Amino acid sequence: MRDQLYINGQWVRPDLGGYFDVIDPGNGDLIQRVPAATEEDIDHAVHAARQAFTRGWGQSTGAERAAWLEALADELDRRRDALAVLEVRDNGKPLPEAQWDIADAIGCFRYYAELARELDDRQDQPLALPDERFRCRIRYEPVGVAGQIIPWNYPLLMAAWKVAPALAAGATCVLKPSELTPLTALELAGAAERIGLPSGVLNVVTGLGSEAGAPLSQHPGVDKLAFTGSVPTGSKIMSAAAVDIKNISLELGGKSAFIVFDDADVEAAVEWIMFGIFWNQGQVCSATSRLLVQEGIAAKLLERLVDETRRITIGPGLERGVLLGPLASAGQFQKVMGMIEQGKQEANLLTGGKRPPHLSHGFFVEPAIFDEPGENSRIWREEIFGPVLCVKRFKTEAEALKQANDSRYGLAAAVMSNDLERAARVANGLRAGIVWVNCSQPTFTQAPWGGMKQSGIGRELGRWGLDNYLEVKQVTEYRSREPW
Ligand code: NAD
Repeated sequence: MRDQLYINGQWVRPDLGGYFDVIDPGNGDLIQRVPAATEEDIDHAVHAARQAFTRGWGQSTGAERAAWLEALADELDRRRDALAVLEVRDNGKPLPEAQWDIADAIGCFRYYAELARELDDRQDQPLALPDERFRCRIRYEPVGVAGQIIPWNYPLLMAAWKVAPALAAGATCVLKPSELTPLTALELAGAAERIGLPSGVLNVVTGLGSEAGAPLSQHPGVDKLAFTGSVPTGSKIMSAAAVDIKNISLELGGKSAFIVFDDADVEAAVEWIMFGIFWNQGQVCSATSRLLVQEGIAAKLLERLVDETRRITIGPGLERGVLLGPLASAGQFQKVMGMIEQGKQEANLLTGGKRPPHLSHGFFVEPAIFDEPGENSRIWREEIFGPVLCVKRFKTEAEALKQANDSRYGLAAAVMSNDLERAARVANGLRAGIVWVNCSQPTFTQAPWGGMKQSGIGRELGRWGLDNYLEVKQVTEYRSREPW
């Protein structure tokens, strides 16, 4: 059990001595207490990261960093079962989902090891200029110290999406996990310690948003801020970054649409719709929480959807056969229940929406489906971040596209149709950073991830994720003896 901050390769107590409780959402019990970092701790961590950057990490080769990333992946791999169980206790998700997340996180470190190696080949490539007296080469240099702030829905995976590309690029990290789910991020620090990663390259500071996140986002020693979380916090982070023009990337919320046309296969649609909204208890930024279904298929589809939704096994994440665990925290439970109560005034509740009678401890909610909320209702417009699906019908393709795009968010969307030309046309018309055709949610480390509009700025994953932590430099030399 880790109960200290990991700064400069050392486990240290928080400066002010404060700790906070980490709760098991499956039963409401205390798992352990974790240090509440404050400004002074953040300052130490940022200085350690700066020193590590200038002492060598920032000048190391991609191949050297790739070896460290692979060692980190191997170390996580050795403990993958224990990590999955810890993730379930901390976050509540069903064990198979946690196992999936841990495997993905390990894969992410391996993937960026490859990209770190490739970076060596990309270094100092010539760029042809129209004036032959000049010679230009392009360099990719690490951004420096990265302050990384992450949410609670995929604790280790979100840490991997941030830390792996940053280390691959040659940046050093100060990672602040969510106060609701800090445990596997501390284990990541433990893995870094065990492999002997140079001190200060990865620092993990647990703490509250206002006490630890805010000073990290405001610290003048941070070159790059990478944030995943809600729009209101993203807005604060952006303001903080504006003060000294920090490089920034934001992965924020969503209210993603799933358009199903009449010619779609009903059973396949039911499967993907359910995966799109109930996976991880609907606590997924890209959850396809707004279902737009064409009139001809609506009655049949909804009947099957309600039927299947009622069959979902709800329970603690470590119990066999459970498909839906508790929400991640008491606060999230209250927020989601509040939205469901509001929804009852705004739409017809077809199923779910209450605490299952046999699960009185823990933060469980029956998956809910609302039919025909008003266009301007809160449940149709706002991110609920829980197992709540809202359904509306449409007649024409143009109407579906208009409704899907009528949102301040633009993270993801899905379209289902057997007419692949139409599906491609709709996919091109959707204002979202991620569009799934005839599926919803499959995510690949190789493909860019991020949103349009208020869903964020920049892209993670793939080579775009690496670019987040690189500065591009041109070195242009005048090679002629003639005056210019
Ligand atoms: P949140 O914004 O409340 O918190 C996210 C992180 O920010 C936490 O670590 C928190 O401690 C920290 N924080 C809070 N206040 C801060 C402040 N003033 N300064 C600096 N840091 C601060 O979000 P959450 O509830 O943890 O996560 C849910 C949200 O995250 C949802 O909106 C969801 O859509 C979004 N999300 C987006 C993606 C994506 O890839 N786009 C992925 C996962 C989650």
